[in-house]
Amino acid sequence: MHDLAGKVAVVTGAASGIGRAIAEAYAKAGARVAVADIDAGKASDAASAMGHGAIGLAMDVTDEAQVEAGFARVARELGPVDILVSNAGIQIISPIVDFTYADWRRMLAIHLDGAFLTTRAAMRQMVEARRGGSIILMGSAHSHVASKFKAPYVTAKHGLLGLARVIAKEGAADGIRANVICPGFVRTPLVEKQIPEQARELGISEDAVVRDVMLRDTVDGEFTTLEDIADTALFLAGFGSNALTGQSLLVSHGWHME
Ligand code: NAD
Repeated sequence: MHDLAGKVAVVTGAASGIGRAIAEAYAKAGARVAVADIDAGKASDAASAMGHGAIGLAMDVTDEAQVEAGFARVARELGPVDILVSNAGIQIISPIVDFTYADWRRMLAIHLDGAFLTTRAAMRQMVEARRGGSIILMGSAHSHVASKFKAPYVTAKHGLLGLARVIAKEGAADGIRANVICPGFVRTPLVEKQIPEQARELGISEDAVVRDVMLRDTVDGEFTTLEDIADTALFLAGFGSNALTGQSLLVSHGWHME
């Protein structure tokens, strides 16, 4: 199930953190991987570091023309896409009463517009190539629970569940599956930046943010790891039928249980 030989994968936000770990795991499993990121330099460095024919792709997922051009390049250089991981994301934390409209829109654009634009581009290639495909949206435990100060993030991550369910219904006839991975906290740059920010908002220490906010509801007080999420993404990419579609998988040390 973990053999991705001959498959073509696009992973967005793959120059760092979770996306990079997934891209590396896919490359090791034999896929030809496009490492897409808004940071073109970091994307091509990451692609060269992972080898196995991976290419770096400059792509702002909120820019329709860049997404279209990026997927066209993938089809030309690697072949039609079999696997999409829509993972690019940022975090902006603020109470609702202080949230600027510009920041709200930026958050929804990256997490939702980005998922839509990359899904549409990938599905068009999958339908035309008639090889089926796997679309993985990077949700969060925040696709299922809410936290203070994260209004657009929680809204967008909940929204991805709806998008995956529609893709699952529309894609089924062509063997295109869609699922959402919902990680708990993983120590990536996105999370490291939040620890001091949350400490300031809540007026508590950074240790207390980790212990009493981020990991409080887990079963064992542990962070989820990059490897945990890469393993889940490998499993979903290799799963061979529509039996597993339209679902979300919580990989969060039991923070939220369905
Ligand atoms: P990260 O900051 O390490 O990596 C995010 C990457 O996305 C960066 O390389 C960045 O350049 C890229 N990016 C940002 N805006 C972009 C855009 N417009 N177009 C293309 N690329 C863009 O973050 P991470 O922690 O690895 O997060 C990856 C995803 O996982 C996000 O969707 C995040 O919401 C989700 N997630 C993270 C955690 C966690 O605890 N780290 C938990 C649940 C979900």
